[in-house]
Amino acid sequence: MELKVVKFGGSSLSDAKQFQKVAGIIRADETRRYVIPSAPGKRFDGDEKVTDLLYSLYKAINEQGNAEAVFARIKDRFNKIIDELGMNLSLDCEYTKIEKDLRNGASREYAASRGEYLNGIILSAYLGFTFIDAATCIFFDAEGNFDAETTNQYLKQLLKAYPKAVIPGFYGSLPDGSITTFSRGGSDITGSIVARASAATLYENWTDVSGFLMADPRCVENPRRIELITYKELRELSYMGASVLHDEAVFPVRYVGIPINIRNTNRPDDPGTLIVPGTEDEIPDTIITGIAGKSGFVSITVEKDQMNKRYGFGRRIFEVFEKYKLAIEHLPSGIDTMSILVNANSFKPLRASIIADIYRATDPDSLVIDEHISLIAVVGRGMVRNKGIAARIFRALADANINIKMIDQGSSELNIIIGVEEKDFNLAIRSIYAEFVK
Ligand code: ASP
Repeated sequence: MELKVVKFGGSSLSDAKQFQKVAGIIRADETRRYVIPSAPGKRFDGDEKVTDLLYSLYKAINEQGNAEAVFARIKDRFNKIIDELGMNLSLDCEYTKIEKDLRNGASREYAASRGEYLNGIILSAYLGFTFIDAATCIFFDAEGNFDAETTNQYLKQLLKAYPKAVIPGFYGSLPDGSITTFSRGGSDITGSIVARASAATLYENWTDVSGFLMADPRCVENPRRIELITYKELRELSYMGASVLHDEAVFPVRYVGIPINIRNTNRPDDPGTLIVPGTEDEIPDTIITGIAGKSGFVSITVEKDQMNKRYGFGRRIFEVFEKYKLAIEHLPSGIDTMSILVNANSFKPLRASIIADIYRATDPDSLVIDEHISLIAVVGRGMVRNKGIAARIFRALADANINIKMIDQGSSELNIIIGVEEKDFNLAIRSIYAEFVK
């Protein structure tokens, strides 16, 4: 039986007009049974997100700021939605309780979570769906980590009693009953959790764009939309900064193979992007699925004669980075060289100590530091069995006069990562895009 879980982002629920669009989408399909709302987002450029206002409220209450003024702005957002929808609903008791809780020491996370909580109350009343407080069914452990199994067991049973419900995103409860949240944008994760627990056939994630684009529109003019992408490809692209969906949101549904459909609330007829567990046969005509990149890397290249024959050489280098708790992002290596790519901002303050320690640990023939490196990932399931893809990427970059600093093809063959100088970043993405998308 078809069952859809639908999550609506903050811009989809930012005012009464958006609420009407959302209700229209839900009512158009009986199988859209579980709804996960975010807090009201920005209505226009420069507007405030309610979640940000709630963080400010917490600060104002705890640092003697003008809490009344901030709270008034928050109440105004919700009251306006209720009024403009013509609803017979008052949140006054809720406001009183929130203020009292915060004055009695409730946490910053509690404050932040109230945006989803109040929006959920309004949306459930508007739709005529049951309201289920996420604090009663999304559980975190004492360390504040999401408790996937306890939540899944409990929620699975609970949802059986409610055929149609609104469950606010972003938060849940700790073992002592207090509220905590996922990281920012975490309503995407709640949607995925509910999709898994309800054995949904589809998780629709409604936002303000019509899915993932093949490249960042700030680099490439009018890039094509990605119609179909696998979880694995998405993971590679999200790591490199393609952000539409919270990067932890794939885990609960990936586990059970539920597809995610990214849709646009403002253009509900657009098919969006479908994220699927895996597909062998549907190779996009562009061969590649998408290109994404990130700047702000430093590469440290260590050279040592006959490195290939030395035992423990790599370990000694890794231990230096472990000692300073600096994560290694990439590790391209040659016969006698090994390059370590790390985040430039984290590296800067540790630079002198790390270099000294590498010298001490490995006595290298040379150690070269390259700053201002960008990494570009060219991702595509179509690359796996296709020959000549790398050659086309390199030719495109050579034709654009771009020097390649590093190449790394993941063992999955799903992804080729290229390092270029930051100044060449945009041109490199444009050149690769132009090579594959005619
Ligand atoms: N409202 C929260 C945020 O602004 C969570 C979400 O929208 O998913 O991060």
